[in-house]
Amino acid sequence: MNELKWPNGYKSAAMFTFDLDGDTTWENGNRGMPNGEKYIKSLSVGQYGPKRAVDMILDKLEEYGVTATFFVPGLTAERYPEVVKKIAAAGHEVGHHGYAHERFVTKTVEEQIEIIDKTQDIFEKLLGKRATAFRTPSGDWSPETPRLLCDHGFSYSSSMRGDDRPYRTVIDGRATDFIEIPTKWELDDYVEMAYNMYPAEPAGQDRISCYRNVQDNFMREFEGCHRFGLCISFMFHPQVIGSPGRIRILDHLLKNITSREDVWVTTGEHVAQWFRKNY
Ligand SMILES: [Zn+2]
Repeated sequence: MNELKWPNGYKSAAMFTFDLDGDTTWENGNRGMPNGEKYIKSLSVGQYGPKRAVDMILDKLEEYGVTATFFVPGLTAERYPEVVKKIAAAGHEVGHHGYAHERFVTKTVEEQIEIIDKTQDIFEKLLGKRATAFRTPSGDWSPETPRLLCDHGFSYSSSMRGDDRPYRTVIDGRATDFIEIPTKWELDDYVEMAYNMYPAEPAGQDRISCYRNVQDNFMREFEGCHRFGLCISFMFHPQVIGSPGRIRILDHLLKNITSREDVWVTTGEHVAQWFRKNY
């Protein structure tokens, strides 16, 4: 499989995905610091996502008629149930993103199952259905994780980095129906623009990137993916992309990408279903 033949004559596919981590990532980071529980300012960096940024992002998605995928840790759904309900009510896909944004690679099989079930139960209670989409927090998973996800009925994951097309995940030497839709660091707003003084994010405290350059990076990645007929999966974080200044980057991408009639702008679930049927 080299060239994908996208449906309806589309030349490429584009997914807008948002990891609604909220304060979970900062909480996990603080835990490793002396007196970490006292550092509440960094938590508020994350809280900006559900508290303020989601509304701005939902407005933009509606303006351009785009259905997106939001990956949400169970703990964020417990803390901000109304926000997660609003995302689902607007027709967007809500995917599983761990419970407290755990690194699956550090967890036993039993612990991973507990995390998977706990968040699925929260989604079922809150939204009336379990997630079919999964993104591993921080992207890392243990050798057993794909099998667990497959066994627990997930349709696809968007966690890995090693391709720019969807593929069937190989489990125990067999290509399965569990689809991976990879994303990339260069499509991640966190890498481009996230910043905090203490704890240092990024470690070494580089400056915040120039917004014009970030927008240009993202557009170049899109243009390349489109030229080669691939699937681009932007990985944004409301707490990063949803500020009053940065939302213009999202606006620029949405405006340009949705104006191309030969791009399939859709959710991961639609890409996964189509891929499973055709490849
Ligand atoms: Zn995350």
